[in-house]
Amino acid sequence: MKTLAKYVFVTGGVVSGLGKGVVTASLGCLLRARGVSVTLQKIDPYLNVDAGTINPYEHGEVFVTKDGLETDLDIGHYERFLNQDLGRPNYLTTGQVYWSVIQRERRGDYLGRTVQVIPHVTEEIKARIRGALEATGSELVVVEVGGTVGDIEGLPYLEAIRQMRDELPREDVAVIHLAYVPILSTTGELKTKPTQHSVKELRAAGIQPDFIVARCPLPLPDSLRKKIALFCDVPVDHVIEDRDLPSIYEVPICLSGEELDLKLLRRLELAPKESDLAAWQDFLRRLKNPERSVRIAIVGKYVELHDAYLSLVEALRHAGAALGAHVEIQWIPAERVEKEGEDVLRNVQGIIVPGGFGERGIEGKVKAADYARRKGTPFLGICLGLQVAAIAFARAVLGRKNANSTEFDPHTPDPVIDLLPEQSRIREKGGTMRLGEYPADLAEGSKIRAAYGMARIYERHRHRYEFNPQYVDLFSRAGFIPSALSPDGKLVEALELRDHPWYVAVQFHPEFRSRPLQPHPLFLAFLQACLSS
Ligand code: GLN
Repeated sequence: MKTLAKYVFVTGGVVSGLGKGVVTASLGCLLRARGVSVTLQKIDPYLNVDAGTINPYEHGEVFVTKDGLETDLDIGHYERFLNQDLGRPNYLTTGQVYWSVIQRERRGDYLGRTVQVIPHVTEEIKARIRGALEATGSELVVVEVGGTVGDIEGLPYLEAIRQMRDELPREDVAVIHLAYVPILSTTGELKTKPTQHSVKELRAAGIQPDFIVARCPLPLPDSLRKKIALFCDVPVDHVIEDRDLPSIYEVPICLSGEELDLKLLRRLELAPKESDLAAWQDFLRRLKNPERSVRIAIVGKYVELHDAYLSLVEALRHAGAALGAHVEIQWIPAERVEKEGEDVLRNVQGIIVPGGFGERGIEGKVKAADYARRKGTPFLGICLGLQVAAIAFARAVLGRKNANSTEFDPHTPDPVIDLLPEQSRIREKGGTMRLGEYPADLAEGSKIRAAYGMARIYERHRHRYEFNPQYVDLFSRAGFIPSALSPDGKLVEALELRDHPWYVAVQFHPEFRSRPLQPHPLFLAFLQACLSS
């Protein structure tokens, strides 16, 4: 029997930042709700091999998959909307594509031939798109092409899509183009011309879209739907409204109202099953109707750019919704705590110090961790957050005034955070941290064990430095207990204060595993502690 293999491509036009990732993720959510075996793939046309070495100021948070790939934040949206783990086959960059092609050339696989973008690069791209279906055992893949049509970097991908449309039966490939319908401030009119131009650009690459998703600040009137249909040559019911919404989690509901999923399945000649969005609707209802509110401080380095902490914010929203609480986030630049002192932390019910790299703001984070310890404020330290909590404790409680991480002070007399011998040998920066999922065993009677309700957990990591095992006894005796260890007992994966309402610091990143339909136990326990403090 022939196995089903359907390909849906999502391209974008006019400007970046239209929410192509959320539309792709929403489509995944809707197709899954109809029982389709669907996976998602993101193409990032830049030359980086992965997103690991990109500054969060450029693209926001670096997401980490279970199998240890550092990706763009859209993969996080995909996992949250699909409620599924994704991995290496779901993320593709030009760096990876060229890497393979060049390695093959060196091996001699193309012996005698000139290696070219068409066909060698495009063949590699197509193989990787097919690979997403094969690796995940899915029948349908929605592939998001990053960037906007017309970008030089995107051309080989558009060409690969054009070829796939030619090679495969019509009902196996569909293209959705997301464009922008802006409002003219002087007349208050919605304008379709930018959309028309971006479709023209797509056609110049040989691709006629099947659907136009129009991102618009206001509802799209019928007259404009007709105009877009006429000028862009799609049926009028294939012009889909994608209105600005208060929450990204409403996008699937909006698109399902437009029947995008249904129409897409028809276009692909797949019989649609009944849609079951009950759990999603239930989550949305809780999210939009909180009964109480809780104020949480996030003390970080990139707080002016909220996308740098996207998964963290979403994890707080998921747990908040489950507890019927609106989470009001107070963004506090770590350097402000340094300069203005801990007063800036008054009036919050909980403090989070998230992950981070580099020295800037470290002393402010140490102060915040120390403040939470002294005041009994619930505290969640994540990755670097664990490391600063350990530094704060060593200085204030153990009297080791110059304790530090060797990341920030290579000559500290008390390296409570240090590189493991295997990490100190590594020179290359790309993909060389401790990355992806690792197991940890939780100590009986600990708060973290109570939070998870299980003895062994699997969480995702992204760090080079570790808690220095030489300090385990000293910390334990003074009341900062290593409450999660790697199964061989060698690595400290979490620390918690014995004499404190709730002060838990973890070396991993729990936020990457939180989902709307599966709020993360650590965030639930943390918020619960904040709500009752
Ligand atoms: N900079 C620290 C390390 O490399 C923490 C990393 C993080 O918070 N993700 O270990």
